[in-house]
Amino acid sequence: MTDMAIPVRAPAAHSADDTILPFGVAALDLRGRVVRLGDAIDDILTRHDYPAPVSKLLGEAVVLTVLLGSTLKFEGRFILQTKSDGPVRMVVVDFATPDRIRACATFDRARVEAAIGAGETATGALMGRGHLAMTIDQGPEMSRYQGVVPLDGGNLEVAAHEYFRRSEQIPTRVRLAVAEEFRAGDDGLRRHWRAGGILAQFLPRAPERMRVPDLDPGDAPPGTAPHSLAEDDAWVEGRSLIDTVEDLELIDPAVSSERLLYRLFHERGVRVFRSAELRAQCSCSREGVATMLKSFSRDDRAHMVENGAISVTCEFCNASYRFAPDEISDQ
Ligand SMILES: [Zn+2]
Repeated sequence: MTDMAIPVRAPAAHSADDTILPFGVAALDLRGRVVRLGDAIDDILTRHDYPAPVSKLLGEAVVLTVLLGSTLKFEGRFILQTKSDGPVRMVVVDFATPDRIRACATFDRARVEAAIGAGETATGALMGRGHLAMTIDQGPEMSRYQGVVPLDGGNLEVAAHEYFRRSEQIPTRVRLAVAEEFRAGDDGLRRHWRAGGILAQFLPRAPERMRVPDLDPGDAPPGTAPHSLAEDDAWVEGRSLIDTVEDLELIDPAVSSERLLYRLFHERGVRVFRSAELRAQCSCSREGVATMLKSFSRDDRAHMVENGAISVTCEFCNASYRFAPDEISDQ
């Protein structure tokens, strides 16, 4: 990563939206990334027009996916998917290297409205219990890697910490934030979604320094003392600093990623690397939908015809594709 270093320069004053900025704090053996999303997240969330708490949850899932998926070193996809018993049954975010992101949610509108009425719109409560799966897909010829972590009523930050503790065993801290701002437009004030996040990992050269306290003993016999290990001082400092990051700092256009990092780590010295850009773009196409339809039997396709055509709407981007039945025929 060091060969990607950019020359020292003054931190940008304003946030560069739709970017990922990698950073490192050598004195703390810390590596991480800051994500800022403006038009990209607004495009995804506005297109769906879900109830606001569902949009917020989906926005957080998008930020987490970008934080995790943007480290892929090969061509492929990083897919984050929740399945749970709360009002929001499923969230899917699909990151395609190097820079494309799309997302959608499946929810029970009546239960979401009831949750809004009861003021129980915390993202953890909306998801409820279930699991969060993260899949890395490198194409049809390669094996898929999947990591799964339980959702237990906590939010996506909690689930991410649990994932890294169990699966990767890398001490990791994540902060995610999503909010709406009001922007003046031609037709008055318009709501505009913004989102941001930061991820930091403790990656010392000596692996024995990566010790973290064990999980609770769980079903160990009563009286068993929990196995305690002091965390490395550098990591305690690093994660404590990440915990001070406020939502506003992650979404405020007036606080750039560099300024945020400087605020957090100026005493230790922080280095930023080349930033990468992101865009909200679906990968669906008329050709792809036609291929999908051809995979059904002639009989099944006949059942899909309504008003003389087969219509398919993409769940990710709401694009709709219409085919005359004879456009889709078995060759
Ligand atoms: Zn689409």
